[in-house]
Amino acid sequence: MSAYKFIDHRFDVVVVGAGGSGLRAALGCAEAGLKTACVTKVFPTRSHTVAAQGGISASLGNMGEDDWRWHMYDTVKGSDWLGDQDAIEYLTRNAPAAVYELEHWGVPFSRTEDGKIYQRAFGGMTRNYGEAPIQRTCAAADRTGHAMLHTMYGQSLSKSVEFFIEYFALDLIMDEGVCRGVTAWKLDDGTLHRFQAQQVILATGGYGRAYQNATSAHTCTGDGNAMALRAGLPLQDMEFVQFHPTGIYGAGCLITEGARGEGGYLTNSEGERFMERYAPSVKDLAPRDMVSRAMTIEIREGRGVGPGKDHIFLHLDHLDPKVLHQRLPGISETAKIFAGVDVTKAPIPVLPTVHYNMGGIPTNVNGEVLTLTAGNPDTVVPGLMAVGEAACVSVHGANRLGSNSLIDLVVFGRAVGLHCGATLKAGATQPELKDAWTDGHLARFDALRNAKGGRSTASLRLEMQKAMQEDAAVFRTGETLQSGVQRLAAVQAARKDIAVFDRGLIWNSDLMETLEFDNLVGQAIVTVNGAANRTESRGAHAREDFPDRDDANWMKHTLAWFDDATGAVKIDYRPVHSYTLTNDIDYIPPKARVY
Ligand SMILES: Cc1cc2nc3c(=O)[nH]c(=O)nc-3n(C[C@H](O)[C@H](O)[C@H](O)COP(=O)(O)OP(=O)(O)OC[C@H]3O[C@@H](n4cnc5c(N)ncnc54)[C@H](O)[C@@H]3O)c2cc1C
Repeated sequence: MSAYKFIDHRFDVVVVGAGGSGLRAALGCAEAGLKTACVTKVFPTRSHTVAAQGGISASLGNMGEDDWRWHMYDTVKGSDWLGDQDAIEYLTRNAPAAVYELEHWGVPFSRTEDGKIYQRAFGGMTRNYGEAPIQRTCAAADRTGHAMLHTMYGQSLSKSVEFFIEYFALDLIMDEGVCRGVTAWKLDDGTLHRFQAQQVILATGGYGRAYQNATSAHTCTGDGNAMALRAGLPLQDMEFVQFHPTGIYGAGCLITEGARGEGGYLTNSEGERFMERYAPSVKDLAPRDMVSRAMTIEIREGRGVGPGKDHIFLHLDHLDPKVLHQRLPGISETAKIFAGVDVTKAPIPVLPTVHYNMGGIPTNVNGEVLTLTAGNPDTVVPGLMAVGEAACVSVHGANRLGSNSLIDLVVFGRAVGLHCGATLKAGATQPELKDAWTDGHLARFDALRNAKGGRSTASLRLEMQKAMQEDAAVFRTGETLQSGVQRLAAVQAARKDIAVFDRGLIWNSDLMETLEFDNLVGQAIVTVNGAANRTESRGAHAREDFPDRDDANWMKHTLAWFDDATGAVKIDYRPVHSYTLTNDIDYIPPKARVY
């Protein structure tokens, strides 16, 4: 592979990704005195976190009494008891401090009359262990992610994080199970780079774009997850894919759950507020998996709206236009542009749309990546951490509650920075990099760059996305999932026949999209195989042929490995942590999940 020459860099820490989690991790490491690089394929403030609307959860109690234990209970119940309770305790107890930190850094939160951070209601967030909905989600109008990301980018510049912007990370540099760094392709001049570090932190976000319709950006291709798979590491709980109830019909853009938090509601073709039947106590503020299923059932039973009876209405037209203007300006504009609807006068046509990946790279509460070796499912992979949507800590289990991702980014981003500060020594000696560690990276890159097959990337990607959309949907059966497994096996076989038309190295979007597609295939395959394997219904994984949750056999995390060459998937398991971190709260035992 002498055709390519690497430019080498050496840091204490390299963070891949500049979304909310990557920025929080990077600035924590820099603050701890570690020489920190942040490598990102898009400009930091264009990361998908910028699109987050509704808000960030924390039991501040600004709108009535609250307690982190109630937040913990809601998150455990929301996760359908697949979340690790030690991690959920860590998340919810540290949430208020993480939000105040953001406030002090300058995040322009919306305010209450008396100047406190404004909080709105969100699905599954309740007071006193499920008694009634609570306002726990801190918001900057409906542009919370935008506010957070810009503030944290500014903060990380002030802490001397070194940014490598529009560098596309290719693969992890692995030396007999130890991560030594990451390789990357610089998009604007075509050079290749090796970033060596004592610790690599993957903060590369989710892989919503494995599906045809998703609220996530086109850049959400789970590149870090794919790098982990190629390094021989497992991904956890990938069968749990969240559908957000209110994507705009046809366009897929998100209308935040905050719209229902401010009083919006769903109706079917009979004008009925059908959520009253499915979740009598919290109604439209039930968790996302339940609302998405209810909407799908309404449509299936012929009560969908529109000429094709194939979607549902979201009403905001009864709300005070002043509230819409003040609290939901962004989605009012989105509805106008993408659905042609004036939300003060008419309902928005909506449909459940792929939104979030509960699964990802398994980690502990310090963000250290875990794998299973010799029967130990908590073996730490030295030199590698993961955080944000790419990671599976697991706080979201089988179903994430709305506004629990933004808090996950900053609480665990902070934890990762603290752990690096406590365990790494600035400037510590690192081994010389060996070409043998990166030859495979170059071989893959070169093969795709020169691919001369008969299938365009776009056509193969569409084939994969359609299979996922149709066969790994809100409701699944053994039959649809087997069909998905086969359709994706065909995509895997056709990968050998892919065609790239631009052979250049500078701004080669054809090659970049091909690398992203290549990253998505493995994730799609482990998702659908994991779903076919799990013969129960839990959270977002709703099997019509196995409608009940089966705690005796399935209260465990799926671990899935992928063989890139053959497409084979290997599945094993990790136990769910049935303990808490401290004695301040007891383990919350499983019970039926009703709202
Ligand atoms: C429309 C929308 C609205 C949402 N609203 C909310 C909300 O209100 N509240 C909430 O809690 N959650 C919300 N979510 C979920 C939440 O926003 C995301 O889960 C979260 O922002 C993901 O952050 P992240 O840091 O993990 O990754 P991202 O923000 O997705 O960033 C990924 C980063 O990785 C980099 N990267 C990826 N691949 C590579 C590569 N190969 N090389 C180099 N860099 C790479 C990218 O450049 C980017 O900087 C929303 C999600 C969407 C899609």
